[in-house]
Amino acid sequence: MDVKRDLIKRWLGAALALALLVPAFSQAASAEGTAAAGTKDEFLAAVQGGGITEIQLTADVDLTGINVIDISGLTLDLCGHTISANNFTCIFEGSDFVIKNGTMKANSNGGYALFIGDGPTDNVLIQDLITVGGINIYNSSNVTLKDVDVTSTNYYAVWCDEGGQCSVESGTFRTDGVAVLGMAEGDFGSLLEISGGDFVTNGKPIVLDDGKDRNPPVIYGGSFDCPVREYLDESLQYEVNNDGIYTYYSTFDDAADGAEDGGKITPVTSTDGAFEATLNYGDDSGKTVILTADADGNIVLPSADRSGYIFLGWTPEGSSEPVEAGETCALTGDTVFTGAWKQLTYSKVEAKAPSCEEPGNIEYWVCNELPDLYFKDEACTEPITPEETVIPATGHDPVAEGAEPATCTEEGYTGNTVCKTCGKVIEKGEAIPMIPHDYKDGYCTVCGTADPDYIPETTPPQTGYGSYTALWAVLLLASGAGVAAAAAAGKKRRDAR
Ligand SMILES: [Zn+2]
Ligand SMILES: [Zn+2]
Repeated sequence: MDVKRDLIKRWLGAALALALLVPAFSQAASAEGTAAAGTKDEFLAAVQGGGITEIQLTADVDLTGINVIDISGLTLDLCGHTISANNFTCIFEGSDFVIKNGTMKANSNGGYALFIGDGPTDNVLIQDLITVGGINIYNSSNVTLKDVDVTSTNYYAVWCDEGGQCSVESGTFRTDGVAVLGMAEGDFGSLLEISGGDFVTNGKPIVLDDGKDRNPPVIYGGSFDCPVREYLDESLQYEVNNDGIYTYYSTFDDAADGAEDGGKITPVTSTDGAFEATLNYGDDSGKTVILTADADGNIVLPSADRSGYIFLGWTPEGSSEPVEAGETCALTGDTVFTGAWKQLTYSKVEAKAPSCEEPGNIEYWVCNELPDLYFKDEACTEPITPEETVIPATGHDPVAEGAEPATCTEEGYTGNTVCKTCGKVIEKGEAIPMIPHDYKDGYCTVCGTADPDYIPETTPPQTGYGSYTALWAVLLLASGAGVAAAAAAGKKRRDAR
């Protein structure tokens, strides 16, 4: 089914030369670097016009005969419109381009809807696109398909031709043609990596397998309507079959989470005819999954979660002892295991108001079986952390109390710092020394205490001339005594030698 592109390329080279001769119609640029295009000629002119980074379609356009066109650096926004073309007459090449937001459609001959790559092509994003007809990728690296809805009509949803390297992130890929995915024959460096997306075979093969030597795709994720174990990356160890839709997981617990009621989990190493364990979760969901033993005949029991319960393990039929999650169990026949649960109970902790120094707490509930679990509602549906239950201590509300100034008769006091709320003395004050008396005329002006050092001023009596005579007499006596005293003092000093 793969077409010989070399022949076609030669044809296209000539056709492209003609296409370039078509006069370009003038463009009304709707924004800087953005061109609007509603016809094939407007589209060509926009691609060839300088300074354009985005082309926005204003109508459905048939690009039949546009042939190979380099749209490096461009974003082609279909703006919800449709690009149609006859098979192999419209091929996008170049580097760093985006095609998005609309529909691409193969005309009635039913070929591919989107061709990427002719000359070396790199870094292409195809996003939010519906294609009626498959996507054909050739001589291109780093082509990403994201949210692309592909229906292949004649061939493949994704065809990786020689050198076509593509990564599928998301979207839906179905075939009405040969197979969902096709890879070029031989070692041409074609590469298809699938990390997501839904793949619908409609009973056709998921991958073209005609016995020729073709690179297989590598599957890292996605969902499929058939098992795809042979294409899985080795990190994926478990297959989950939910009613005919297959998904793959690295860990057993992820697989158990991904299994819906009635789903079947099979280790990718499992062998045909292996025993099966039916796991009845025994919870509100009523979920049951089937677990196939691995190549050694063992199963590993999964963990399980149920709000308000502790999971005790899986009780095998005919036993009353649950086997804990994570345990390996050798199956000697098909066996039913039922989940064993213990319901959690809770105790209320009453609210307590904080004091100045002691923190309080809000009202809350704590789990008796798992004491790290705190809730703020009685139904125990709103978890909180232990820290969130705490109402911090208010701290003291300090006021100064009992301050007294010092006086000349009593010491003062700086006062205590006291909490207004609880009365606690936070800091004691200290004494202020007495201040000196303020003496004036032999007495303190404040308290009246007599000044011990006070010498009253003596005033002689007014007695007329007679008194002068008496004064002279006194002075004469004093000078005589003074001479005698001086002589005595001189003698004393000499004696002291
Ligand atoms: Zn206090
Ligand atoms: Zn005083």
